[in-house]
Amino acid sequence: MDIKKVDHRKLVQVVQQLKSEPERTLGVYVLDGWRVQISRYKQTSAQRVRALYNRRREMGLCILCGKKVSKMNPANGKLYRLCETHRKEIDFQKNKKDKSRRAKR
Ligand SMILES: [Zn+2]
Repeated sequence: MDIKKVDHRKLVQVVQQLKSEPERTLGVYVLDGWRVQISRYKQTSAQRVRALYNRRREMGLCILCGKKVSKMNPANGKLYRLCETHRKEIDFQKNKKDKSRRAKR
């Protein structure tokens, strides 16, 4: 989880943001050596995975490793879901599968 150093005023803003955009406030905040953690209470692991996916997607990060995605998908004008490394890995596997499927026919 992200760790952000904050001052008292900033932490108050974060708590206020919890009302409107709870997903955006998730993280660990350090205030004068004290740790304040904002995370979902009693969340199933499926919900946690979904939330992480949505958060990374929204921030334009690779859904697998969380690295910043810089390339756009020309088909829809949006950022790719995956970083270059993972896109290559996964697209490569997909292409290989397509090819072997075609070869079977
Ligand atoms: Zn990645």
